[in-house]
Amino acid sequence: MTQVKTVDDLDLSGKKVFVRVDFNVPLDADGSVSDDTRIKAALPTIKKLYEQNAKIILASHLGRPKGERVESMSLSPVAPVLSERLGLPVLFLNDCIGTDVEEAINGLQGGQIVLLENLRFHKGETENDPQFAKELASLADVYVNDAFGTAHRAHASTFGVPDLLPVKISGYLIAKELEFLGQKTSSPDRPFTVILGGAKVSDKIMVIDALLDKADTIIIGGAMAYTFALANGKKVGDSLSEPDKVELARSALQKAKEKGVRFLLPIDTLGTNSLNFDQKTLGETKVFEGDIEDGWEGVDIGPKTTELYAKEVAGAKTVLWNGPMGVFEIEDSSKGTFAVAQAVADGDGISIIGGGDSVKAINRSGYSGQVSFMSTGGGASLEFLEGKSLPGVSILDPK
Ligand code: AMP
Repeated sequence: MTQVKTVDDLDLSGKKVFVRVDFNVPLDADGSVSDDTRIKAALPTIKKLYEQNAKIILASHLGRPKGERVESMSLSPVAPVLSERLGLPVLFLNDCIGTDVEEAINGLQGGQIVLLENLRFHKGETENDPQFAKELASLADVYVNDAFGTAHRAHASTFGVPDLLPVKISGYLIAKELEFLGQKTSSPDRPFTVILGGAKVSDKIMVIDALLDKADTIIIGGAMAYTFALANGKKVGDSLSEPDKVELARSALQKAKEKGVRFLLPIDTLGTNSLNFDQKTLGETKVFEGDIEDGWEGVDIGPKTTELYAKEVAGAKTVLWNGPMGVFEIEDSSKGTFAVAQAVADGDGISIIGGGDSVKAINRSGYSGQVSFMSTGGGASLEFLEGKSLPGVSILDPK
């Protein structure tokens, strides 16, 4: 399993260090930072570099400005927030390349910090343009990646720049992602139970396939479960399902049997005869055991399933959870998801939240402080769990 050098492995004193961070933060209508989670998450790495007396160059994207300067996506509001959280001055630069930027960086003393303007104001970022990457790389001696959420993309700041620099290492955030999504799921404390939910089998089938080689038990919830129900010859009424993915579901079930992996599907389902996602309302609801009637759609796992899944989770030494058990955005169909969140948080073993909506759900449940690790990636976490090598990780120096 990938292990890369980190900021703990080198002395970066006096070096110009280009740090790819994830400051893709939500902004209010007045342009101020409305959630500083990502800024706070970057602090340990920045502090470590500061203690080492490095010259710190922070770079990030924000939103999708598509290669143009879009003032509402400027990173300038991040600088004062970062400065306040760090208790150190942070100088914001109006661009990420060019003579002014070079001059400012060449004038840096050890321990000083600059934040570059949004990398995606230049087309060269997402296109990994060699010239753009060269200009960015020329600013620094050393590369540090601490932005896991973009590590599955070979952009200039995640791939082109480290490719050009002699030293490329990870910050603490990426190191932790690799530890929990990588090492701790590859040689897990057993029993290792995986809970997967969400809308589509097609999004998660590769993850299921990879985890069938590692897990003792796989638990399925969310709309994904209805495609598995079809594979087992059940009726799912008007539930969201993917009839063209039934064969894939069937082969996953077959692989589970061959590998001796317990594969649990819901034994009951909360159904509704009308779902209005925009207004966040359900019509009539009832619980189905077995087939779901036409005119009704499944929106959550039922009470028996919820109890069963919670018990399974409680007995595990390692739990990995990705994807909601139902339409958790609507209160009446959120119980299954929040019960699973509680069970994961209450467990004594290692608990890993594999990114995306499950992180939202666990944050909303108020149990986030009780889990071992919450991934900061959405797409990157899934690709990593699929066993794919992420360009932004594989380019880093191995330990
Ligand atoms: P994903 O992005 O694949 O993790 O899926 C998350 C989305 O799946 C959430 O927006 C949920 O509302 C949705 N979802 C989960 N279960 C169901 C269901 N039974 N019917 C419709 N949508 C669902």
